[in-house]
Amino acid sequence: MFAIRSVDTVVVDLPIRRRHRIGVGVMTRQSSVVVQVHTRDGVTGLGEAVVPGGGPEWGGESVETMKAVIDLYLAPALCAAPMSGVNDAVARLDRASAHNRFAKAALEMALWDIVGKVHGCPVSELFGGLVRDRLPVLWSVGADTERAADEIADRVAAGHRMVKFMMAHPSPAEDAARILGLLREVPEDVVVVVDPNGRWDESAARRWLPRLAEAGVDIAEQPLPAWNLDGMARIRASSGMRVMADEAVASVHDAVAVSRRRSADLFSVKVPKSGGLAAANGIAAVARAAGIGCYGGGTMETSIGTSAAAQLFGTWPVVHGCDLIGPLLMTDDVVVEPVSYENGDLVVPRGPGLGVELDEQKLRKYARE
Ligand code: MN
Repeated sequence: MFAIRSVDTVVVDLPIRRRHRIGVGVMTRQSSVVVQVHTRDGVTGLGEAVVPGGGPEWGGESVETMKAVIDLYLAPALCAAPMSGVNDAVARLDRASAHNRFAKAALEMALWDIVGKVHGCPVSELFGGLVRDRLPVLWSVGADTERAADEIADRVAAGHRMVKFMMAHPSPAEDAARILGLLREVPEDVVVVVDPNGRWDESAARRWLPRLAEAGVDIAEQPLPAWNLDGMARIRASSGMRVMADEAVASVHDAVAVSRRRSADLFSVKVPKSGGLAAANGIAAVARAAGIGCYGGGTMETSIGTSAAAQLFGTWPVVHGCDLIGPLLMTDDVVVEPVSYENGDLVVPRGPGLGVELDEQKLRKYARE
């Protein structure tokens, strides 16, 4: 049983190492809402509401809408009366607001942080414990990254065994030509993903994916719009590469629909787009039941959201890599001790709760005016 006294939300804008162009826009910084949930017993849980780039292009929510929804609706619902636990809290959040999964995920991860701190264990133990304490991390190359070849060489030397190319040019032909050129820079044993963020149509996918497969691309992430599940199933059968669903799987219901229509070989499971760790874990369970592989998706989180996702991904029986690269792409963080990477792997934090501590000074430094 816990009772929430108050919730603080702060929008932060963090600098990134280089601009990052993805299918839905260009990131020149990364923004998120840092959430602190305070219990009446004096325990504080940390959470983060985050979408790629901070704007609404990817998931419909933005830092501004998430802060408003949390402040005006979700936080008052949590503070209204004591709760028996996280499940009770999630039900209450779902009654307070439909959808708004990205905003809810921030509060849910803060509640897990509180439960872990109260019991003196990492959040991973609340999900049955880690089966691995390292997660292989994919490196994501933006669509207009200058010196992409040098960046790939650096990241492969740093130990990354997966590379993802974001596709964001006006024409799929241009993207495909660029990737076909860059593939020469990628060692044979590195897994290559292309991600058009749902922006290609079926005829473009039918034309270009087999050529990319022949040149060494292994996975097409969300090549078609999220609604086109039958198209994805056809592409899966004809492209010669694995298809990963990202935008198409945000809920367990989506996961069932994608499984039944055989639209994907892999799910990119993300804590923010699913509304929290428990919901993301449900999607992973559907994937396993359907024989679909789980991949740990990232949303350019700071160390707060990165740890939250890693706590969960590390408990899965099999994980086909993750793209939790936020702390590598950002030049600073909002926690005292950022998460660490070793030889291309993310080390899952082991302290109580999420295992990260807020740096109040940095929170003030990066807080939006
Ligand atoms: Mn994606």
